[in-house]
Amino acid sequence: MPELPEVETVLRGLRKKINGMPICQLDSLYKGTVIYDKDIVQPLFPAEVTDYERRGKYIILHLASKNALIIHLRMTGKLIYTEEDNEEAKHVRALLSLTGCARVLFNDIRTFGKIIVTPESKISGYLPKLGPEPLSDEFDDKYLKAALHRKSAPIKNALLDQSIVAGLGNIYVCEILYRARINPETQANALTPAKLKQIVLHTKEVIAEAISKNGTSISDYRQVDDKRGEFQAFLQVYQKETCPKGHPVKRIKQAGRSSFYCPVCQK
Ligand SMILES: [Zn+2]
Repeated sequence: MPELPEVETVLRGLRKKINGMPICQLDSLYKGTVIYDKDIVQPLFPAEVTDYERRGKYIILHLASKNALIIHLRMTGKLIYTEEDNEEAKHVRALLSLTGCARVLFNDIRTFGKIIVTPESKISGYLPKLGPEPLSDEFDDKYLKAALHRKSAPIKNALLDQSIVAGLGNIYVCEILYRARINPETQANALTPAKLKQIVLHTKEVIAEAISKNGTSISDYRQVDDKRGEFQAFLQVYQKETCPKGHPVKRIKQAGRSSFYCPVCQK
């Protein structure tokens, strides 16, 4: 499932590829993938993209027509830029036509992904409550202490909660807790100030490193040029047999997802 670094990589790729070309058309090839708000500002297209924004795992393309496209990749969604006539490509659920034969295909095997077309004024109504961006200054140990104050859930689950911090998913939370040397089952509001500092520090570090490596391709995730990310080579516990120090990695279920951690390094 694409997390913040993957979504950020896709957004940067889109910006580079679209490069001022107007979006001329949006075709939906699968029922339910594209959702239109009833108050769209007409005419919707053609419209240039005036701003490329990301909030958590959501891509928001602001259009010159005062509308926006909110794109949520969910489990298996991919945005692939192409100049070839490959509409028959498998699992294409929607496509954005640019200039000439340039297009962005929304490919999604599991079909949970969505493209919401809305006036800019209604964007927030389509987003869930999202906590601060992990790379923002707002996300610091003071904020985290307050946010976790009443959370008796395990820290692993708390960090997956998008209303606490936006954009983190299973892979990066496993990696962050390994680097911070914290057991994923630790009660969130029982963490010491020193441990909270470690979480903030390593969250910023892991997310920044993953963006610089174009994200993690373990299953479906691809960049807009269909290339894989490279951060999977730098994972330390996620889906590993041993941690970098050679201890066996343990796998447990938390909130329905697999947590990987080292019982020796992460007390
Ligand atoms: Zn270890």
